[in-house]
Amino acid sequence: MLNLNPEFDAGTEIKCSRAGCIELAEFQIVWRNPKVHAEDRRKIWLACPEHRQYLVDYLAVRSFYLETLPLPNQLL
Ligand SMILES: [Zn+2]
Repeated sequence: MLNLNPEFDAGTEIKCSRAGCIELAEFQIVWRNPKVHAEDRRKIWLACPEHRQYLVDYLAVRSFYLETLPLPNQLL
């Protein structure tokens, strides 16, 4: 049952969300824009250790920030 799916191996989903950053993400930054997202809606940005605080601050000043979670390995 070796199923090598190239799409699955692309790695794009675990990269830091900061524009131009190519580091692997280690955190999920959970956020929601109350004006456009429903109450139970959760958006997730991925962050490397270097940009974690940058992204949290970016969301926090807009009151979008909810929480930061470790990136679970089983999602990789
Ligand atoms: Zn980064």
